[in-house]
Amino acid sequence: MDCYDYLHNIIFDVKTGIKKGEINFYRLYATGYALVFESIYEAPVDIGCTVFLNFKDNRLLVERDLFHINDDLRSWWIEERDKKAEMVYEEKDPGIAECERRCMYEAVCRA
Ligand code: SF4
Repeated sequence: MDCYDYLHNIIFDVKTGIKKGEINFYRLYATGYALVFESIYEAPVDIGCTVFLNFKDNRLLVERDLFHINDDLRSWWIEERDKKAEMVYEEKDPGIAECERRCMYEAVCRA
């Protein structure tokens, strides 16, 4: 996780270069951090916050999505984890990634 507010039990996850559009998918990151945090420290974490940093017209744009880490998100995260574990176990090729090619590996990436 990028930050934890221990007074309010909020997990923060910072994303750069990604717009707020696909908001629900990015909630999975903070949800995963919350599940691990709860497992290690045995303290409930029910609030997540994704912070999006972007530049617009040469100005820093900060957006946030504060959300409840509910049972649906927890189940979704576990389903995704199980899918990934199955891919690794069965050595399935996940295929070439689709992306907007805006990362630091753009020059050497074969995707
Ligand atoms: S490594 Fe390749 S596929 Fe991954 S984000 Fe960068 S350019 Fe896209």
